[in-house]
Amino acid sequence: MSKIYDVIILGAGPAGLTAGLYAGRSRLSTLIIEKGQDGGQIALTDEVENYPGQLVEGETGHSLVARMSEQAKKFGAERCTDAIKSVELEGDVKKLIGAKGEYLARCVIIATGAFPKPIGCENEGRFTGMGISFCATCDGAFFKDLEVYVVGGGDSAVEEAIYLTRFARKVTIIHRRDQLRAVKAIQEKAFANPKIAFLWDSVVVRVDGKDLLSSMTLRNVKTGELTTIEANKADGLFGLFGFIGYTPNSRLFEGMLEMENGYIRTDGNMRTSIPGVFAAGDVRVKSLRQVVTAAADGAIAAMQAEKYISSNL
Ligand code: NAP
Repeated sequence: MSKIYDVIILGAGPAGLTAGLYAGRSRLSTLIIEKGQDGGQIALTDEVENYPGQLVEGETGHSLVARMSEQAKKFGAERCTDAIKSVELEGDVKKLIGAKGEYLARCVIIATGAFPKPIGCENEGRFTGMGISFCATCDGAFFKDLEVYVVGGGDSAVEEAIYLTRFARKVTIIHRRDQLRAVKAIQEKAFANPKIAFLWDSVVVRVDGKDLLSSMTLRNVKTGELTTIEANKADGLFGLFGFIGYTPNSRLFEGMLEMENGYIRTDGNMRTSIPGVFAAGDVRVKSLRQVVTAAADGAIAAMQAEKYISSNL
């Protein structure tokens, strides 16, 4: 018979790791299950400027998350790497079935985050990893002294475009409107950067190349005009980064939990529609998806889990 944990936390991003820290400090037996690397989206971020108190020179998403992991471990949260395939959430004991085994808990905190949306152009799959990327921190250095294009107009697109100017000769932001969505402070930095150019009212409809990406077709959404961009002959390739938002990682819970556009609905105490099941971070319906709000969600979810367990003893 598997051990019954007080709390199982799915996902080791800022929400999950903070839930682990708070659950551990509350002396709940806690297991954090993560299928890949710790950190979720923030681990791919080069610079974290807006986490309160973060003035550490050279702090990256990765280094911040590494300390969060260490802290959760220090307070007793156990760790396991597995990909959960199915879940049984009703009843007093919840069951999670993974590739490596089954896990039981009185409470589950879902902190599975969200993953980047594809650009949505023809041939995208063929060139993903061959010129198309969704992670500037991971792949930016491959494009040293080359040209790079970034799709999107939100905070992610503009921040990552700025980051990519460290490597690329030129970075062009392709946006489907004629105004950015990113906050003003980030926009100002981009407009002031001489390496950044803009292609407004445009979407990528097709990408091409031999092995590596070297050509793409854009459509002007106002005029319908198609334009093909070819890689500079001497370069032979260019980079294309997609930052057009995220899709919540919630498929596992479809039909079980109340959702809105795939995001899990919770109340202010992170309670989902099933007692003993909580959601925290980017996977839930909320207005601001940031490390600070993910961490806050994780703390609230863990404290509510503790309350739920004490009231059901
Ligand atoms: P986002 O704010 O949803 O922006 C997505 C961008 O992609 C928008 O400009 C959107 O255009 C464009 N877009 C969406 N679908 C598209 C499509 N099919 N084709 C072409 N363009 C498309 O996403 P995000 O920038 O990833 O940010 C997600 C959340 O994280 C936000 O809440 C953001 O504030 C937060 N974030 C914060 C920071 C920070 O504070 N430093 C950094 C990164 C992210 P439209 O503008 O026309 O809709």
